[in-house]
Amino acid sequence: MAGTRAPWMLENFIDGKFLPCNSYLDSYDPSTGDVYCRVPNSGKEEIEAAVEAARAAFPGWSSRSPQERSQVLHRLADLLEESLEELAQAESKDQGKTITLARTMDIPRSVQNFRFFASSILHHTSECTQMDHLGCLHYTVRTPVGIAGLISPWNLPLYLLTWKIAPAIAAGNTVIAKPSELTSVTAWMMCKLLEKAAPFKFLDFEEESSPCDLRLDILRRIPVTGLPSHPGVPPGVVNIVFGTGPRAGEALVSHPEVPLISFTGSQPTAERITQLSAPHCKKLSLELGGKNPAIIFEDANLEECVPTTVRSSFANQGEICLCTSRIFVQRSIYSEFLKRFVDATRMWKVGIPSDPSASMGALISKAHLEKVRSYIKKARLEGAQILCGEGVDKLNLPPRNQGGYFMLPTVITDIKDESCCMKEEIFGPVTCVVPFDSEEEVIQRANSVKYGLAATVWSGNVGRVHRVAKKLQSGLVWTNCWLIRELNLPFGGMKSSGVGREGAKDSYEFFTEVKTVTVKH
Ligand code: NAD
Repeated sequence: MAGTRAPWMLENFIDGKFLPCNSYLDSYDPSTGDVYCRVPNSGKEEIEAAVEAARAAFPGWSSRSPQERSQVLHRLADLLEESLEELAQAESKDQGKTITLARTMDIPRSVQNFRFFASSILHHTSECTQMDHLGCLHYTVRTPVGIAGLISPWNLPLYLLTWKIAPAIAAGNTVIAKPSELTSVTAWMMCKLLEKAAPFKFLDFEEESSPCDLRLDILRRIPVTGLPSHPGVPPGVVNIVFGTGPRAGEALVSHPEVPLISFTGSQPTAERITQLSAPHCKKLSLELGGKNPAIIFEDANLEECVPTTVRSSFANQGEICLCTSRIFVQRSIYSEFLKRFVDATRMWKVGIPSDPSASMGALISKAHLEKVRSYIKKARLEGAQILCGEGVDKLNLPPRNQGGYFMLPTVITDIKDESCCMKEEIFGPVTCVVPFDSEEEVIQRANSVKYGLAATVWSGNVGRVHRVAKKLQSGLVWTNCWLIRELNLPFGGMKSSGVGREGAKDSYEFFTEVKTVTVKH
């Protein structure tokens, strides 16, 4: 599938078919700034067609057993795994991330998402309680919600899209997914795999004459030999509609027959989605941004802390909602940490995404690069110091990539907690380092932003680790590590970082409706 035609023309995937669109958007290669792909600019009409397909597929899909649906998810995981290298190359080109990250994180995790929910769907149980004095037994039943609307961002395109599709279909829903218009390619490639995973076809002798011209009714529909005997993804179960938020996204969110929206993206978009969903009382899951603190105490193991904090600040160009962007360091080790951190940041190599030795690739778009740079400009005007990166060090790029959206990992210091760089999500390779004195003070400062997604705490004192973790207003706290995920456990943010949690049980509960039944005997 890798691009031989330029630019690629993507198509919507509705009811198991690829359908062209009336209008298209340009999609840019972040490493060169060139248009390399055209994405359908879908709107109400395409969403309506997808709703029709998802509605028609729902009765069949929702009545399959969890075991059957699990098999389908495993089949999708197999197909993704077989295409791992092709998908990794495409993700890296489309998003600007390094090929290494796409190969080792994005695509393996997309495979794992299908495998994980294929397994977890087999292990849910319902609740049951007795009320003997009234002769009653109460129990719960869960049913899929219906058509799930899934909206995902550009930073981890296939990873986050599959993290929504897998639990939604595992629970028996049919889905309409809208990936980010900036990174649609791997979702479209997955549609090719969905097509491949369609239920095996039957020979219809009325259309295709058999060599023996058999016309017996009993033989009219026999499976085509040589095709794998797997259950497959029926048409209409997964529909993918490409386009922008204001057109395709809003048409999906506003559609009265889509009772559930799972959204990952920015806080302002979540506000809009909440407004549009309110008249329909939709079920909403909102996974939003962060302004994540790292708290480094004087007894931290700096051998581990420094490289991990460089990674937590700059992995995927700092374009992960969980990236560290405020580093609080206890004053007694502040100078030492800062020196080691800046030295290690300078080793974090910016390179073209296809360079296997690069630690960081290109940012997603010109507009985003300008936005990230504008924060550094503001910090300078406020009197902060830029210790390395943007405007301090020199970026070396091949001539072909001069128009790409690259910048160096940047460390800011001497900055006030009230600065916008310390309050707002920058979502790029920029981090601020500031000193603190006491445990109480740092907890209060870490909690002083509107976000509450992820925090890291570095200390050798187990009591302190538990105390601080408990007091941080954060959906996730990593201590002496970063980004080690256990998919069974809840994932999500507090405050403006989101509403709801994702994970084995949480996703199952979100993608199903629960009913309590009381039986009196
Ligand atoms: P975004 O909000 O601009 O877009 C996200 C998705 O929403 C895209 O598909 C977009 O087309 C769509 N959208 C935009 N406007 C819409 C509207 N009015 N109605 C419906 N859909 C609309 O976010 P982004 O810039 O793509 O992603 C970056 C943001 O995502 C950051 O804030 C980051 O922290 C957040 N994020 C959060 C998590 C998490 O799990 N908490 C994970 C990744 C990214």
